[in-house]
Amino acid sequence: MDWEEFGQKITDFGKEVGGKVKDTADVLRLKQKLASEESKRKAAYRAIGELYYQEHEGELDEAYIPYFEQVGEASAAIEDYQAQINALKGRQICPACGAAVEADSAYCGKCGCKMD
Ligand SMILES: [Zn+2]
Repeated sequence: MDWEEFGQKITDFGKEVGGKVKDTADVLRLKQKLASEESKRKAAYRAIGELYYQEHEGELDEAYIPYFEQVGEASAAIEDYQAQINALKGRQICPACGAAVEADSAYCGKCGCKMD
């Protein structure tokens, strides 16, 4: 290999690397657009699903049964957690020991600290 050939190989390699970097940036840009459209599509699917559920609740089409059941179970769990959160929010936290105390209690049931 002579120096001219070697120099040409280096130049070609540089072009190749440069090209790859540009491709990668383009690919990244496209992947971002792809992810954005995928999330739009997912949101639309979800909206379709919610609409279908609202309009067809009670008339169970066999293919949808497991999903209707999942929605029902998740809804019950969500209600339960919300009730628990509300109950917790209705309580005050003892400044001395950190226990949750009923909002109308005058003293902490765990350590006896006076609540204000
Ligand atoms: Zn306490």
